[in-house]
Amino acid sequence: MSLQGKTAVVTGSNSGIGLGVARELARAGANLVLNSFTETDEDHALAKSLAAEFDVSAKYIKADMSIGQECRDLIKAAGACDILVNNAGIQHVAPIDEFPLEKWDAIIAINLNSVFHTTAAALPVMRAAGWGRVVNIASAHGLTASPFKSAYVAAKHGVVGMTKSVALETAQDPITCNAVCPGYVLTPLVEAQIPNTMAEYDMDRETVIREVMLARQPSKEFATVEQLGGTVAFLCSSAAAQITGTTLSVDGGWTAL
Ligand code: NAD
Repeated sequence: MSLQGKTAVVTGSNSGIGLGVARELARAGANLVLNSFTETDEDHALAKSLAAEFDVSAKYIKADMSIGQECRDLIKAAGACDILVNNAGIQHVAPIDEFPLEKWDAIIAINLNSVFHTTAAALPVMRAAGWGRVVNIASAHGLTASPFKSAYVAAKHGVVGMTKSVALETAQDPITCNAVCPGYVLTPLVEAQIPNTMAEYDMDRETVIREVMLARQPSKEFATVEQLGGTVAFLCSSAAAQITGTTLSVDGGWTAL
């Protein structure tokens, strides 16, 4: 599993799954480039504390993944990019005929277009280095659908499709490209959905979690950010060198139903 000496760029990594992925990659020895669209003292302190905890180098680079040029500049500013984890993502829930256009545009820009831009910028760097791993954090919603999540479902299906196409384009390079499809993970993104769902169904928090969210997951458990991080670390390992163009579901059986 050693990723010693590799540099991992993880988009949207000051929270949730991205942070869990960054931690597990650092545990395997990778140097980190953390990212989000904010730039606070805490963002830089986070990079410092991960560097100290795992004895790797780590820096934080602000870049807004809704802006194509900033996606490409992130890869340039990283200085190296052996591992690219496209994780940044947002969600909005509304019927399609009431879906605000600016929310549609933001979801498509951050969840889908950013993957195009960062990957396009990273592949030449990986080819020059003679090694590379692209891991896209898609979703169970990249393989199935839910009502009122049209933009998110469209973007995540797009990511799954792009993953396969990039895998074929890089099949004869020492580069792999895969997607990880989480079910529900209790991160700030999911926490933000709970109050609306409570109001919509007139349910308390525990009932929303049990009857709406975990009802889709046969395991009846949330996946954890550590489990997602471990899955990404595996896809970056030498054991996974021939795994490319796949989607790896971490969803407690959701997509097996
Ligand atoms: P989160 O809200 O905790 O993290 C999202 C991250 O993206 C944050 O670091 C945030 O700062 C960053 N981000 C948002 N907009 C950005 C922008 N414009 N530029 C740069 N960074 C930006 O959510 P999460 O649940 O950890 O989500 C991470 C990824 O996992 C997303 O792509 C999401 O779609 C996917 N996912 C999450 C779940 C889940 O249940 N939590 C399930 C399936 C897929």
